[in-house]
Amino acid sequence: MKIGFIGLGIMGNFMALNLLKNDVMLNVYNRTKEKAKEHIKKGAIFLDSPKEVAKKSDIVMLMLSDSNAVSNIMDGNDGLLEGLGGEKIIINMSTIEPDYSAMLYKKIKIKSPSSMFLEAPVIGSKIPAKEGTLIILAAGDKNAYDLSTAYFNMMGKRVIYLGDIPKASYLKIINNQIMGITMGALAEGLSLSKKIGLDDNIVYDIVNSGAFANPMFQLKGKNIIDNNYEANFPYKHMQKDLDFAVKLSGEFKVFSPLTSAINNSYILGYDKFKDEDMCAIYKALNFE
Ligand code: NAP
Repeated sequence: MKIGFIGLGIMGNFMALNLLKNDVMLNVYNRTKEKAKEHIKKGAIFLDSPKEVAKKSDIVMLMLSDSNAVSNIMDGNDGLLEGLGGEKIIINMSTIEPDYSAMLYKKIKIKSPSSMFLEAPVIGSKIPAKEGTLIILAAGDKNAYDLSTAYFNMMGKRVIYLGDIPKASYLKIINNQIMGITMGALAEGLSLSKKIGLDDNIVYDIVNSGAFANPMFQLKGKNIIDNNYEANFPYKHMQKDLDFAVKLSGEFKVFSPLTSAINNSYILGYDKFKDEDMCAIYKALNFE
């Protein structure tokens, strides 16, 4: 099988490298070609358009920022849809709106009825992407899932099939809703302790020793104390996902005041911090 991989950002870069480590025959495409240097060195073939990737691959995986990026790759004369034909599998691993994912499924079936589609958003950030320990949530054509599981296992430690689209998108958004609120809690606590004048390192140690210690508090807490905001999970993507959670809560008539509050807090610092890590919410809350 030939695999195509489109989108070599923070996550896609390592996911594609993990496929190459497993000797997968890989076609790659990225809007910014320089990001494919390492992949080409390791045997990947860079193709000039998403259409070419679709034509020359059996399975095409997308790992792009948002639905705008996905539509840029799918549509147009050189878009992926133009390269479909036969029994191809398209897998969108980017986190996008559930409605958009359902629409994508229909669009692919109309263009090429024998093609199959999966949404497969991931849980885990830059380090799990690098280490091949992502959690992959899949929904869509079951045959496509069965044929793709071996490749998912090269990138993740856990893969789960959830049924129809957009169930995987729903679960991914709920995961990030909880993560965003939790991140906000840590940032608010550290802001207050700083103002009071408590020792950051003692606060960090105690918070990470109690019942709600978690890997995210350990990583992001340390980064905030060290003033390190280099993006692992970009701020703009966290805000995008919180926006999805707010919209879903409205659609399903669920009272979610914390989600709205943390989303608004992310919006507050959006222009300044969008390309930094999501833990820059600490700086937004402190009006830095
Ligand atoms: P990223 O570093 O911002 O990379 C985004 C990718 O999308 C790049 O390949 C970029 O191409 C491409 N892209 C953006 N706009 C485009 C456009 N208009 N047309 C064509 N290509 C475009 O993002 P990431 O952190 O890898 O995240 C990718 C997806 O995974 C997002 O949906 C995110 O929410 C989700 N996710 C991220 C993490 C994380 O920790 N980072 C964890 C789980 C899920 P260029 O290189 O040319 O800019």
